[in-house]
Amino acid sequence: MMKVAVIGCGAAGLYSAILLKKNNREYEVTVFEKEEKLAKKVYATGNGHCNVLNKKLLANKYNNIPYFKNLLKDFSYASLKEELSSWGVMLLENGDYVYPLSFSASSFVSYLLSYGEKLGVRFLPAKKVSDYEKTQDGYQICDQIFDKVVIATGAKSSPNLGSDGSFLSVLRRHGYQWNEFKPGLAPIRVAENVKSLQGIRHHALVKASSDKKQIFEEEGEVLFKKDGLSGIVIFNAESALFREKTLISPKITIDLFPEHSFYSLCDKLNQAKIKNPEYYLSSFLVSALADYVTKEAKNKNVDQIAQTLKHLTFSVTGSYGFEDSRVSLGGIPLNEVTPFLESKKESGVYFVGEILDADGYCGGYNLSWALISAILVSKHV
Ligand SMILES: Cc1cc2nc3c(=O)[nH]c(=O)nc-3n(C[C@H](O)[C@H](O)[C@H](O)COP(=O)(O)OP(=O)(O)OC[C@H]3O[C@@H](n4cnc5c(N)ncnc54)[C@H](O)[C@@H]3O)c2cc1C
Repeated sequence: MMKVAVIGCGAAGLYSAILLKKNNREYEVTVFEKEEKLAKKVYATGNGHCNVLNKKLLANKYNNIPYFKNLLKDFSYASLKEELSSWGVMLLENGDYVYPLSFSASSFVSYLLSYGEKLGVRFLPAKKVSDYEKTQDGYQICDQIFDKVVIATGAKSSPNLGSDGSFLSVLRRHGYQWNEFKPGLAPIRVAENVKSLQGIRHHALVKASSDKKQIFEEEGEVLFKKDGLSGIVIFNAESALFREKTLISPKITIDLFPEHSFYSLCDKLNQAKIKNPEYYLSSFLVSALADYVTKEAKNKNVDQIAQTLKHLTFSVTGSYGFEDSRVSLGGIPLNEVTPFLESKKESGVYFVGEILDADGYCGGYNLSWALISAILVSKHV
């Protein structure tokens, strides 16, 4: 009988275990998880709602566009939805974002764990794997021998939710190298004093640049923090910036009124200024942001104010780090594994999820990758 060990019970490990057991009832599938709580990170996803898939599933939302362009020829939103539906998971579509029908991450986890148990998956919580060793009969993990091993230990983001990068020392002993891990999908620290803006939310067009070259553009809600910027669009911008090998004078430029051209904005500002010359900007923006823009503008004429409103620029000093990051950039390079994610170094060892160098933007792209990688592995093991 084929014995499979899955190391790590995050989304990717849990999906893998379910798929392996569902497709091969005769397999013995054991999941080792170092935390007492299984799938701890999934509870926190999508603000507790779990944005499980994305309807568009676009390759250009991932770090490695050629790889995903090729991969997504075999996977579509419809095929992933069908897979989840075959487990009894019902979905709720909200624009392109897709959630479990319950709109509850914790109900989703409870459902998956009970479904896994029903299939016969053996879950071992609070069981940290400190190594795996090749023997004549397979791989030894905690005194048991397995034919195949699926490594689903995640990376370094949000270490309070389990994945703290501690398994990397094991992989190093096995001769693996990886692309440096960096925090992705995180708030950004800026050099400017934005304390007065803390808590303000504003819909804007956000551009990110390095060495004066634009590398990102997207509309969304920016949330000002006491020393930086946050919000989904900023998380995506942060990933785009920190995916770069070298960053030179990285900047975030915000167009506070993307729906207006510079000239139509000037027009509107002039109209308001006639009515209330001193406070006209407060008719466009929350007062604290209006004051900030007025200070930033080189002079106070309407052209300069409009220019600043369309190009409010911040110097990026860094990311908020792994503690505040939703995904890790970097990982085991995809060219170190076969198309079915089996290690090229150790036969019978597979990788799934965030430990691989594959990451996406917000909107369900990372949980989609967890599912796709689990499907790939389950087809081969
Ligand atoms: C706050 C937050 C919200 C998010 N929201 C979304 C969202 O809505 N949609 C989306 O697509 N993505 C979201 N993400 C990203 C997504 O959750 C992750 O990319 C995905 O869960 C990664 O799954 P994984 O299984 O690869 O890794 P992880 O979830 O990190 O799981 C790895 C598991 O392995 C365990 N482990 C590590 N080492 C060992 C060991 N030695 N022995 C045993 N077990 C070990 C860890 O404890 C952990 O449970 C969010 C992330 C965060 C932090």
